[in-house]
Amino acid sequence: MIVDYHTHTDLCKHAEGGAEEYVQNAIALGLDEVGCSDHAPMPDNYDERHRMSLEQYYSTYAPTVSELAEKYKKSIVVRRGVEVDFFPGTGGWVKKFIDENDFDFVIGSVHFVGSRGSEKALIGQDYKEEEVEDLHEEYFEAIKASAESGLFDIIGHCDLIKKFGRRSGKRIDEALREALKAIRKADLCIEINTSGLRRPEREPYPSERILAAAKELRIPLTLGSDAHKPADVGGGFDIAVRLIEKYGNGRFCLFDKRERREVKVSALKPA
Ligand code: ZN
Ligand code: FE
Ligand code: FE
Ligand code: ZN
Repeated sequence: MIVDYHTHTDLCKHAEGGAEEYVQNAIALGLDEVGCSDHAPMPDNYDERHRMSLEQYYSTYAPTVSELAEKYKKSIVVRRGVEVDFFPGTGGWVKKFIDENDFDFVIGSVHFVGSRGSEKALIGQDYKEEEVEDLHEEYFEAIKASAESGLFDIIGHCDLIKKFGRRSGKRIDEALREALKAIRKADLCIEINTSGLRRPEREPYPSERILAAAKELRIPLTLGSDAHKPADVGGGFDIAVRLIEKYGNGRFCLFDKRERREVKVSALKPA
């Protein structure tokens, strides 16, 4: 069994191609399931440059995913997912949105940190060397809060912050440990997100150091490419499968209507 649970579409304004092209590429790769998980709408024009509107969700995204699931059901299981931003103050709106829709899974991701009053984007941003240390701590604190929010099934790219340079140290390591403990306590899974392989980090999210800590806590895994173009579906999955073997005892999570089950991972068949 092999799946890609993290794919985007052009509705989010920074990805290429419609959902159908992602699904078709997943079929071509022989994946068993593909999850559409584009950036969810958010309240109050929050980062509207990187997401669909609520109107587009209902008029386009939701019906498209349902149609694709039906159209391709003999070839692949199409799951309806969404990647939701975790940001303080938006939880009530987000909960209502999630409850109103029959998602198979919900990925919770931190793309902005704002726990100390000022909102800092992790997208398209350069930070001064001296800011990066604090940013790491704030990022893992936000991951912890996202796990405790009760909103999500999967914690997305849980060390995205390393794109500004890897940091460790007492404060950061402690914040990371607390985040992982919260993920365990909330019984969530983390994704092996291969998009880091396509970026200067040159390794999946999260790093092996974090995967080793997650394994100790028995945090289950799932799998996604975070494709922002159809050609990236399943990208780097040879590496991801090895990581699941090593840190997930060869098992990862599937979702159906937000019910989770664990299955054995299999290698991506060469095309
Ligand atoms: Zn994106
Ligand atoms: Fe993300
Ligand atoms: Fe994503
Ligand atoms: Zn993402």
